[in-house]
Amino acid sequence: MQTRPPTKILLIEDDEDDYILLQKVLKKTPQGHYKLQWEHSYTSGLACMLTGEHDLCMLDYRLGAHTGIELLKTARSQGYNRPIILLTGANEGDIDILALQAGADDYIAKEQLQGELLHRIIRYAIERKKAEHERERLLSEQIAAQELERKRNEFIGMVVHELKTPLTSLKGYAQLLYKRCLKTGDEQTAQFASRMDGQITKLTSLVDDFLDVTRLAEGKLQFVEDSFSFDTLVEEVIQEIQLINEQQTIRREGLTNKTIWGDRTRTGQVITNLLTNAMKYAPDTDTILLKTSSNTDTVTLCVQDFGPGIPRALQNKIFDPFYRIEKNQPGTASGLGLGLHIAAEIIKRQGGRIWVESEEGKGATFWFTLPTNRTLPISSQEDAT
Ligand code: ADP
Repeated sequence: MQTRPPTKILLIEDDEDDYILLQKVLKKTPQGHYKLQWEHSYTSGLACMLTGEHDLCMLDYRLGAHTGIELLKTARSQGYNRPIILLTGANEGDIDILALQAGADDYIAKEQLQGELLHRIIRYAIERKKAEHERERLLSEQIAAQELERKRNEFIGMVVHELKTPLTSLKGYAQLLYKRCLKTGDEQTAQFASRMDGQITKLTSLVDDFLDVTRLAEGKLQFVEDSFSFDTLVEEVIQEIQLINEQQTIRREGLTNKTIWGDRTRTGQVITNLLTNAMKYAPDTDTILLKTSSNTDTVTLCVQDFGPGIPRALQNKIFDPFYRIEKNQPGTASGLGLGLHIAAEIIKRQGGRIWVESEEGKGATFWFTLPTNRTLPISSQEDAT
């Protein structure tokens, strides 16, 4: 049978009789298995606390010219982190409280020293200290992880920001080149310039998604709110997308006739994302339906495509950051799996709801609603959640 190693106790006590007494009490403890080391002065005691190998320290309140509380404070201030039990004499007033305030884990009056009680106090002090260390370890791990995450987001934010400037200028040059070539009649180069422009737009949108998701993680996604006509916004987004993609037609049905309060650009970003996804994931179809409607307090928009659809089990997952359905990726479908996550956050933060309805193989319909009578600004909604 394997024997349990003894619990090592360091006793700092200037009276040898008390040392002998404690040794006897510990020997008589039925469940305990102890090894006692004795130091009789403040100085040797402190040296042993800071360098020695023990599980717990028992400290007499009276140590010649010093008190045990002074030693306790000095040791704690020098990083001593093992459990300490203070031994007090009779009638020593509020020392127990002072001891706990100074960093002791427990105290016991010498006249109460008897096996059963001592064994329990020692065990509890050791276990409490272990639990305290574990809590501290978890907390510092959590703080370190948060700090790492903050630095990572800060770094991504910086890189993405640096990428945006050259992209904007590249886009400008591509468009200029396109126009010049058209003027000179160089149609082939004009076509190359137009393709370049398209690719730069894709890259810019990836970079924007990255920037948004980093801001989201830091709670810094900005909303600029105003009242706007929902129908006009929808029309503008459709026209913009049709300019780039002429192969698929967006068929619009219904009007809301509503002015809503919210972030116009961000809401447009959601509609753009749903339409470009429909085009991207159903490239072999020629029509996409966009329907809008309203009632007294909401506008509803849905984008329906006739592509591969989304299996039921994945319908919630696609709103998670970086989630992409592998088999739904046609060769041309670039993306990071961020668009729907950002869209969902934008809609939720404006007090709306977003979801998808789909049957695999039969296309997908993405829906969102937005309130028309929202009175709380976005910042106060965040405070409420
Ligand atoms: P991304 O398009 O950049 O991958 P999204 O967050 O917009 O990111 O979409 C997440 C995933 O959901 C996509 O990768 C795709 O697998 C799936 N998905 C989105 N829209 C559709 C759609 N209309 N039809 C089929 N799958 C879709």
